[in-house]
Order: sequence, then structure tokens, then C-alpha cells
Amino acid sequence: MNSILVTGATGQLGSAVIETLLKKIWADQISVITRNEEKRAAFEARGFNAFLGDYDNLATLEQAMKGVDTVLLISSGDQGDRIQEHKNVIDMAVKMGVKHLAYTSRCMRDRNTLANQLMVEHFRTEDYIRESGLPFTIFRNTLYMDAIPQFVGGQAALDRGILLPAGEGKVAFALRSEIGEAMAQVLLNETCENKIYSFTGDQAYSFDDIASALTALSGKEVKYTPVERAVFAAMMRQRNVEEALTQKILDFITDIKNNQEAEVTNELAFYLGRKPTRLNEGLKLVLAL
Ligand code: NAP
Repeated sequence: MNSILVTGATGQLGSAVIETLLKKIWADQISVITRNEEKRAAFEARGFNAFLGDYDNLATLEQAMKGVDTVLLISSGDQGDRIQEHKNVIDMAVKMGVKHLAYTSRCMRDRNTLANQLMVEHFRTEDYIRESGLPFTIFRNTLYMDAIPQFVGGQAALDRGILLPAGEGKVAFALRSEIGEAMAQVLLNETCENKIYSFTGDQAYSFDDIASALTALSGKEVKYTPVERAVFAAMMRQRNVEEALTQKILDFITDIKNNQEAEVTNELAFYLGRKPTRLNEGLKLVLAL
């Protein structure tokens, strides 16, 4: 690889990608975009080609893609029209003659039965990439282990237990930093062959497993109680959580309950060159235990 544009480089996944890329290539081979001038200047000071850029601003994308071989499109957040934002990046990559586009999708068992429309958007982006004719790499990443505190209510889970409408559904959680590291290893070492990588942990865990791990780590008995959706929604209302946010959480949890996130592969371990961090160790990190 001669040169790469990493979008989302200021984010947590993007940072992990960049740190691993720097072990093999120079900062001046890496371009980044950010919407924030201070962050842009900090990247520039480290020797990167750093641009003010926004998925919604075509001129900025055009400027950042000049002379770039590979674009790593880290999926956008859920605030704007992210399908359109992704299309803007893909269309610009075609226009600018980029040789290879990589994208961060999600590892879900069956795209046709997803509850969560945010996940559907990833697969629609994948379709758009295929239709673009660009040589591609798709990273289908599992749910970040780092997201567990959001689902269980942080350290409060140690006293309150875990109440979720997730049934016995399992998730092959992996640390975001390890996913980023493995993505960079692929980008550095593989030729572009229109390949799809599914990066997951090497075990899938239920919320019961998470409760047991928290019990072992804290010495307090932490219990998981599967509840009905309506009970969970009422709990959220009591805590003054907005309906829209509750619905978003329910969509995520419905897919978990249906084991959409339970697939385990050995690809993350392969590209890390070691076993991915397991639940107990990961919980210590993400919950600061
Ligand atoms: P993060 O820390 O919130 O970083 C998001 C990055 O996206 C930032 O670098 C931000 O750049 C950039 N960005 C957002 N909107 C943009 C826009 N309109 N134009 C240009 N850049 C934009 O997120 P993360 O944890 O690294 O995760 C990366 C992505 O993975 C998320 O955006 C989301 O799509 C997805 N995700 C996956 C999981 C999972 O469990 N697998 C969980 C959560 C999210 P600036 O703010 O510097 O402009």
C-alpha cells in the first residue's frame, strides 16, 4: 500500500487502526479527515496529511482523496443520513480513481431478519460498494466489548444486577482496539481481493455469562434477569430515558436475543496473531474493575 485515507481517524476504532499502520508505514503515507480544526492540526503536527473533511461535504472529500490509493471508510454515526454520507465517500472514491475501498460493516447472522435498521444500513452500504465496481474489502465487525457498560448500566450493574429483554441470546464480543489492530494488519498485508473479513471474539457470551463474570471479578453476586420488552420500556420511562433512545436500545437487544451477533470466527485471532481478549479480562478494562 502506498497511501491510505482513513476516515474516522479521530475516533476510537480509527485511532487503533492508525497506531497499527504506523508500525509499518510512515505518517506521510496516511491521510485523515476530521470535522474539527484542533484535531486536524494535531494530526498534521504528527506528520499526517490531515484535512478538514466531512462526509456531507463533497469538496472536502475530493481534496482529501487526491493521490490516495486506498480509502478506509469507517462507518458514520447515526445522527445524520448515514447512507447518503457513505454514498458520498464511495462516489468520490470512484471519481478520484481510488484503487481500493475498505468499509467497516457489522457481523450479523442474517441481514434479512434484522430488527435494527442501523444494521440494515451497513448491508445497504455493502451493496452500494459492490455496485460501484471499486475493488473492496469489507470488515464485518462484531459488537464492541467496550459497549457492554452501556447495555448493563455501567458499574451500577454490580449492585442492581442486569435486567434486559435479551433472553439467552449470545454475542461474540471483541475489544474495539483489537478489531482496529486486525483491520490494519489486513490493510498492510493483504492484496485487495474483494474479500469479507468477519472479526469476532473467539467465544460468544450471554448476559448470564456477563453477570457470572462480574460476580467473579467483583465478589458481589450479580444476577441477570431476562425481562419482557414492555417491562424494559417501562423501566426506561421511569428513568426518564427518551422513547427514541429506548427504541434504539430495544432494536439492538432484539437482534442479540435472536442470536444475530453470536457468530464466532477465528479471523480476528488470525490477524492479531494471538487470542482475542476474553470476557473476564475485557470487562476489567471496559468497566475499570
Ligand atoms: P467514534 O469514536 O464515535 O468515532 C467516530 C468517528 O467518525 C470520528 O472520527 C468522527 O470524526 C467521524 N465522523 C462522524 N461523522 C462524520 C462526518 N459527518 N464526516 C466525517 N467524519 C465523521 O466511533 P468508534 O467507536 O471509533 O466507531 C466507529 C464506527 O463504528 C461508528 O461511527 C459506528 O458507525 C460504528 N460502531 C460500531 C459498533 C460496534 O459495536 N461494532 C459500536 C458503535 C459504533 P470527527 O468527529 O473528528 O469529525
